[in-house]
Amino acid sequence: MGARRLAAMTKAEQQVIVVGGGVAGLSAACALAEAGLRVRLVEQRGYLGGRASSYWHPGVEETIDNCQHALFGCCTNLLAFYHRIGAEGKIHWTRAMTMIEPGGRRSRLGAGRLPAPMHGLPSLLAARAFTLADKWALMRAFSALLRSGAKVSSTEWSLGEWLRRNGQTQGAIDRFWRLVIASALNAELDAIALPYAAKVIRELLLNSAGAGAMGMSAVPLSELYAGAEGYLRARGGAVMLNAGVESAAWNEADGAWRLHTRAGALAADFLVLALPFEALAKLLPQMPPAEGVERLREQIARQTHWPICSVHLWFDRAITDLEHAVLLDRTIHWLYNKSLLQPGRATGSHYVELVISASREFAALGRQQAIDLAVAELKEFFPAARAARVEKVALTKEVRATFGVPPGIDAFRPEPGRSPWPNCLLAGDWTATGWPSTMESAARSGHLAAEALCAARGERRGWLAPDLRPAGWMRFV
Ligand SMILES: Cc1cc2nc3c(=O)[nH]c(=O)nc-3n(C[C@H](O)[C@H](O)[C@H](O)COP(=O)(O)OP(=O)(O)OC[C@H]3O[C@@H](n4cnc5c(N)ncnc54)[C@H](O)[C@@H]3O)c2cc1C
Repeated sequence: MGARRLAAMTKAEQQVIVVGGGVAGLSAACALAEAGLRVRLVEQRGYLGGRASSYWHPGVEETIDNCQHALFGCCTNLLAFYHRIGAEGKIHWTRAMTMIEPGGRRSRLGAGRLPAPMHGLPSLLAARAFTLADKWALMRAFSALLRSGAKVSSTEWSLGEWLRRNGQTQGAIDRFWRLVIASALNAELDAIALPYAAKVIRELLLNSAGAGAMGMSAVPLSELYAGAEGYLRARGGAVMLNAGVESAAWNEADGAWRLHTRAGALAADFLVLALPFEALAKLLPQMPPAEGVERLREQIARQTHWPICSVHLWFDRAITDLEHAVLLDRTIHWLYNKSLLQPGRATGSHYVELVISASREFAALGRQQAIDLAVAELKEFFPAARAARVEKVALTKEVRATFGVPPGIDAFRPEPGRSPWPNCLLAGDWTATGWPSTMESAARSGHLAAEALCAARGERRGWLAPDLRPAGWMRFV
């Protein structure tokens, strides 16, 4: 990195441009501002949050999330970022998950009093959604995932293949592995590398009750980031919206970056590119040539994306008292009761959001077909929905919601905090954080980029939040 220029400047004078106002860019920007750099965050849209954001939908005259986002107690970097910007109090936490079968029969999975990793066992044994054979298969799978270290960390196995070889019943596959795990990783079973599934099982179900606690925003997603702008401004920084970066050039003579954005030209000592891989691919031809660019291009070319769709429904009456539920054996997967989860909404209607993960078939349906299917299925789970009137509807389709984690993908995730160019660092959920496509992966990448930048200034800053310690017997596993 450009050490000549660094030596001549005081630390407070050094300027950073962070490109991308998603969780990765925001977490990097806030950490760097705390380290004393002057940070400008440059975002192409008119609001913050990227793929985890909310916006005003004129069709329904409501602010809606692009999709419900869930986080977990083990998301330590995301929580550290929320803490930094004062958003942690806006998360609603729960330790239980209700599974509903068509017809309405419910099973509740959640943490009990036994020490980890047994804390979820009593509720699994009591769950009517699973047969005895399903429960036995699941318990054997969890214990095999805990025990078989090297095999599980081999990135050549897919989850689907492993399940077939480990005697999983159809019920366990359909109602647990496909619906809970594949849906959390947002891909089909055969397109998920085993270590990622093992990580989810370990973090969410086995390590501790706290690690598996599920959090949901109690405000529309973009409101979570309201504190970030003030945080940056108070430290001499700024947020620039509607300022998509069109090109960037490195000036070797004065050791600085010059950027062309839709809001004008900018210059800085450091650049953090916190972009999804598709946006980085678009920017690559407008970046200076450098050794390593071709490798980055190859890495990007190996990435795939998976869709997530949501049907937002406003009813004239409440259709359930549940905050959220997993819906079994149908196309729709998750129900989130937004009227309960986001109580600040000033609307008389009862708002629920239905989420359909990893379904390219659903994403390909026409608008009315998708809505009709979702409403018809919802009525199978909640009798009250049959008599209720749908007052308004919104359909959101995020075709590029998440990147896939198929076997072998780790060789093609670039390291966060590095890049082919001088004084430039990559961040973004798809960089090599060890996490699947999640807000935690984005926040980790942001913190790793901030750490690398501080290290380049000769400063040791531990921005990466440590993982939660396993509890109970898991401490000895
Ligand atoms: C529908 C859906 C549901 C999801 N559900 C969950 C969930 O439940 N839990 C979970 O943890 N994760 C979930 N995710 C994944 C999560 O949203 C992402 O992993 C995370 O938000 C990625 O953050 P990021 O900062 O890496 O990228 P992004 O959020 O994509 O941010 C990149 C930003 O860069 C901006 N940008 C692009 N090009 C330019 C340019 N040239 N100049 C300036 N700015 C630019 C974009 O507008 C964007 O704001 C979901 C994602 C989607 C889409």
